[in-house]
Amino acid sequence: MASGAGDALLNSFILLCFAVIGTIPYLVPVVVLAIAVVMNAVFALLIGTGFSKRWSDPSLTGMQIFAGCVTTLLAILLAPQIVYMFLLNLFVLLSFGSLYFSRQAFFLTWLLLSACLGICLWAVRDHLGIQVTNTAEWVLLWLVVVLSLGRFVNINTKVSRLRASLSEKNKALAAQATRDDLTGLWNRRKFMQSLQDEIEQANRTGHRFTVAIIDVDHFKKINDTFGHLTGDAVLKEISQILSDTCRSVDSIGRYGGEEFTLLMPDTKTAQAIVALERMRRMVEQHNWSHMAAGMRVTISIGTVEWQPAYPLPLLLGKADAALYRAKAGGRNQLRVA
Ligand code: GH3
Ligand code: MG
Ligand code: MG
Repeated sequence: MASGAGDALLNSFILLCFAVIGTIPYLVPVVVLAIAVVMNAVFALLIGTGFSKRWSDPSLTGMQIFAGCVTTLLAILLAPQIVYMFLLNLFVLLSFGSLYFSRQAFFLTWLLLSACLGICLWAVRDHLGIQVTNTAEWVLLWLVVVLSLGRFVNINTKVSRLRASLSEKNKALAAQATRDDLTGLWNRRKFMQSLQDEIEQANRTGHRFTVAIIDVDHFKKINDTFGHLTGDAVLKEISQILSDTCRSVDSIGRYGGEEFTLLMPDTKTAQAIVALERMRRMVEQHNWSHMAAGMRVTISIGTVEWQPAYPLPLLLGKADAALYRAKAGGRNQLRVA
């Protein structure tokens, strides 16, 4: 926490200014600076030697904040005329904790600090004040407030940045949990989940929907002939064609290997046939020559319309059986359960 040392130096400098214009005795900046130097030396030693790595808070943030609070309370006792400066200091010190402290730690710090602050303020109650009897004191008062606000803004900028990067990471993690790495389509788990949701909704509303399983024909041969990497590229391109061809309300998933699944809400068999036939044709007529000369790729499709009380395994079993018939019938075709 390099800013800890920086803050201490800045505070000492401002206290020195107050001493120069005669508001407080020179003893105050000297004592505050001495304490800061000793404490920062100790902290630097503990961190530098790696000794602090054994503790749960290796950057010693908690301890540095504690030391800052103790120094500030001492300063209140020594210079109650400018108590506002130290109250602002405490505020800044605690905001630092927002980067590192847990809620309990925050609450305990606040409780302890409130008690100690009460004792100190009581001890110097007859001398408390905002001393502004000349322009120099006015300038310093303004400076103290502005600098404190500046530090506060600085700390909160860090907090915001931290929070933004956390939410980015969370988003990335969430995407990883639902997306297939190669194609970017929904992964099997996510697809099954939305299929299950769709079934439950259909059971309530009676709306029909249609599911299809799409399997690349002789994909093993594509791999064997053109290599596994080209096989991967074919899978990506097929998923792109399928995404481009389906409606925005449809969901496509990668069921596994070279098999895809399609969920078409609010769709009856007749409409599904039109859409799926179009997909089959798009793949068949796609120009694959940029991957390898003479490459041909086709897909077979099995589809089923949900009927009341069909559970998920039965539904997929029927689509799979239809797909099997499409394969047995010569591939590059669509069969309906
Ligand atoms: P069919 O027409 O009967 O579907 O024949 P097929 O060769 O497509 O079916 P099979 O199940 O025998 O082979 C599928 C192949 O898909 C086998 C496997 O190595 C390959 N495969 C599975 N996942 C991937 C992948 O992510 N990338 C690549 N390149 N190949 C994959
Ligand atoms: Mg297969
Ligand atoms: Mg296949």
